[in-house]
Amino acid sequence: MTKVAPTLQRWLAGERIGPLPARNTSAPPPALSFEFFPPKTPALKQQLWHCIHRLTPLAPRFVSVTYGAGGSTHARTHATVSRLARETSLVPAAHLTCVGATRDEVDAVARGYWAAGVRHIVALRGDAPAGSAYAPHPGGYDYASDLVAGLRRIADFEISVAAYPETHPSAMSAQADLDNLKRKLDSGATRAITQYFFDTSTYLRFLDRALAAGITAPIVPGIMPVSNYEQAARFSALCGTSVPAWLGHLFEGTENDPEIRRIVASIVAAEQVRTLQANGVDEFHFYTLNRPDLTYAIAHILGVRPKGGLADR
Ligand code: FAD
Repeated sequence: MTKVAPTLQRWLAGERIGPLPARNTSAPPPALSFEFFPPKTPALKQQLWHCIHRLTPLAPRFVSVTYGAGGSTHARTHATVSRLARETSLVPAAHLTCVGATRDEVDAVARGYWAAGVRHIVALRGDAPAGSAYAPHPGGYDYASDLVAGLRRIADFEISVAAYPETHPSAMSAQADLDNLKRKLDSGATRAITQYFFDTSTYLRFLDRALAAGITAPIVPGIMPVSNYEQAARFSALCGTSVPAWLGHLFEGTENDPEIRRIVASIVAAEQVRTLQANGVDEFHFYTLNRPDLTYAIAHILGVRPKGGLADR
């Protein structure tokens, strides 16, 4: 009797994992946005602006700048976003949180952005300092949905909000969290950007649940290309993103080899965005961590090409 190789036996038995559909090279490239954090030192500032210049030719729809915990980076966020508005062709979006501040204080920051020509706010609640539970400020906006409504009263901002495919860690239930997302959109936000995730099917199932709940606004996946696995695992535990065992397995033994880590990171993220793209997702938000190369490579894989030819390095 002819001996059939185990792989062929499995193949004949129908144990197949379908390949990703072939690329549709005539489809328009996806819309991208990039997130940066405000720099603390002159060296980090230089790194950020190198990153911005490197990614600019990819023509993102907008670029956003985070707001440190409890508004701790207010001056640096404002300086970065204002410089983006003043000196570049990019559309800047300022993250703004309402934790630990009065309404008047938050409103004044928002008015300052409007005066600086910033028209897009990523409206967030923010977190209490480590070790304490969140409690609304007595004279402040209680939750992000209240902040969205407040911003709407101030000016005609474009507003993005946060969404959690794996449910926000302190939500009463997945349904309550989804109701909250709907409230934020109904209060005047135009898009949600998700917390990053590694299990792509979790995000796709979340889209199904959101649609069933009557949410029709875009829910843009937040993509975090991870090359520092240990750091990402620690941060994920805090923000409620589960880290699948396979991810740790892929990075095992690469601790002292940053180059291999970066290659692994780009393959993991490329696989993720290709799967999303094959499922019809055509907009992506990248957590760049102020480093351009992984984001650039993954955008390239998605079919995005620089405007005006290859970017200068
Ligand atoms: P909310 O939408 O207000 O929800 C917070 C929690 O409260 C949820 O569990 C929700 O279900 C619950 N909730 C909402 N309304 C009510 C209610 N009426 N009664 C009871 N429970 C309620 N943090 C920063 O400090 N700076 C940043 O720049 C920043 N950028 C971010 C960008 C993105 C894309 C994401 C996903 C997160 C970001 N964060 C940032 C983190 C964010 O501040 C935290 O995740 C925070 O814990 C929740 O913020 P939120 O806007 O989602 O809050």
